[in-house]
Amino acid sequence: MKRYYSIEQSDEQLLGSSANIHYVLRFDRAAAHLIDIQLRIENVAEPIELYLPVWTPGSYKIRDFITNVGDLYATDGNGKPLHIEWLSKNRFRIEHTGNSSTIELRYCYFAHERSVRTSFVNRWHAFLMPGNFCFAIAGREYEPHHLHLHLPPHWQSIATALSPVAPNNTDKLGALNYDILVDSPIQIGPDPVHHFSAAGVLHQLSILGESPFTIPWLIEKLQRIVEVEAQLFGGLPYDRYVFMLHFFPDSRGGLEHARSSVSGWDPDSLTDSEEIQRFLTLLAHEFFHVWNGKRIRPIELGPFDYNRENYTSMLWLAEGLNSY
Ligand SMILES: [Zn+2]
Repeated sequence: MKRYYSIEQSDEQLLGSSANIHYVLRFDRAAAHLIDIQLRIENVAEPIELYLPVWTPGSYKIRDFITNVGDLYATDGNGKPLHIEWLSKNRFRIEHTGNSSTIELRYCYFAHERSVRTSFVNRWHAFLMPGNFCFAIAGREYEPHHLHLHLPPHWQSIATALSPVAPNNTDKLGALNYDILVDSPIQIGPDPVHHFSAAGVLHQLSILGESPFTIPWLIEKLQRIVEVEAQLFGGLPYDRYVFMLHFFPDSRGGLEHARSSVSGWDPDSLTDSEEIQRFLTLLAHEFFHVWNGKRIRPIELGPFDYNRENYTSMLWLAEGLNSY
């Protein structure tokens, strides 16, 4: 399936934007690891099909996120219940009847898998992978998508490559299309997001868990990684980039995105210089994907088919070159 594909977005493009696809996320049941989601789709005239990805780009295993969805029901804009017809394990159709052009879908998502590629929430913080729980509307993937966050009061700081729709307001975020939404994790917690400049561009650092390193030390290393790699490629292809770090027991590994990356490491293992070097190597590897893997990529790795496995024989280059 050939289709238009772009993962490029600058914050400026979303400021003041409007959308006909809105995801509203509530966290009243975060202590039970539940996200309550309302998806509002406007301008609906025909029956529509919705699907949830079965995998996450950059992490190729089939994960069937639909198994974490519960209490799903649909109404029109007047609250009239609409029939959901399942077409496959991750896809269904909603018959559009009546005179409202709005469809609302409500459901909850059980977010209790702690990794760089899956969502988890608890009473203190949240790590959200939109592709885990944001249904795509078939044929409308190219439209802007807005995401509204209703956060508990102590969840002060939000880090994400999604762009604010209003200035200085991170409660309402936007993506130019569905691919960008899926490619933009969101990290929310009590600790501040740190800002720094590298190669003349704004970068942000957000940490979940207890960092074994000081913030100035981490920023110094990240600046060095950004500047060396930017020099290799002749500049940076984005207006802002977010480094998300997870320091949790047994954590190890990372996932790349166009304007962010997530890297996890077990903080208790970072006691000797070799292990610290391996951790820094991971950060450099994930950042190298800004180019190799994301913007320079095997043809199978974008546009993606979110409904099935996407095979490529090119990982030796898309991953191997980064490791080299
Ligand atoms: Zn990689």
